[in-house]
Amino acid sequence: VASKETKPEPTVVKTRDLTIGGSHVGVIAGPCSVESEEQILQVAHQVKAAGATGLRGGAFKPRTSPYSFQGMKEDGLKLLALAREETGLAVVTEVMTPHHVDLLCQYADVLQIGARNMQNYHLLQAVGETRLPVLLKRGPAASIEEFLLAAEYILDQGNQQVILCDRGIRTFETHTRFTLPLATVPYLHERTHLPVVIDPSHGTGVASLVPPMCAAAIAAGCDGLILEVHPDPSRAMSDGAQSLTPEAFAETMETCRKVAAAL
Ligand code: PEP
Ligand code: MN
Repeated sequence: VASKETKPEPTVVKTRDLTIGGSHVGVIAGPCSVESEEQILQVAHQVKAAGATGLRGGAFKPRTSPYSFQGMKEDGLKLLALAREETGLAVVTEVMTPHHVDLLCQYADVLQIGARNMQNYHLLQAVGETRLPVLLKRGPAASIEEFLLAAEYILDQGNQQVILCDRGIRTFETHTRFTLPLATVPYLHERTHLPVVIDPSHGTGVASLVPPMCAAAIAAGCDGLILEVHPDPSRAMSDGAQSLTPEAFAETMETCRKVAAAL
């Protein structure tokens, strides 16, 4: 169903002012985790002012260690909804288990499936039963074939609004947190009508590398970016090292606009 042979025209996902696909590039920005009302409202206004139309923020966090901050859970979802009320930004947030899908549907505009859950087939089917757009992240050890088959699990349930997101894969290389393979953008465009979004924050793990990889992803023809932005990255409760300051985000958006205009 994801193949261009079944549907040659690109799928365009639109929710509120966030449009991803076709000739539209949508930018989703915000903190790794929702941490407080002050934090999420401040960063939501900042990313909106710089041109983002989607707000990211994890309320249920898939942390490598069970002793790390696990997210604000439903309180975090309420804060995301408040930020949406104030800014109009579309809320993109992760759902980790089929048990939470109904809850997430009350607050989210886009359901994010995290990289660790790309092959959690019951979760894929559960979000496939909803009619909310789904941002599906590539598993760090998944081939493109496996990635596309994971998308089929969602499409097969009748939900056509699937956004593919490459956030880097695990390789022998250690200079970056993951290895971000940008060739997946043109490759996936040859194979599928689904839009392709790049996450240079998780893809590199290093804030200074994020702006140039954003420009490169735009040049490669991506349909959107998802980026971590924190009002004070040094104090972030998760992923501070890869989070842009609001100022760096605004500069990155300027550069991306120039790259897009040159295409
Ligand atoms: C995230 O977006 O904060 C996240 C946990 O991403 P990933 O699933 O790609 O690791
Ligand atoms: Mn993160």
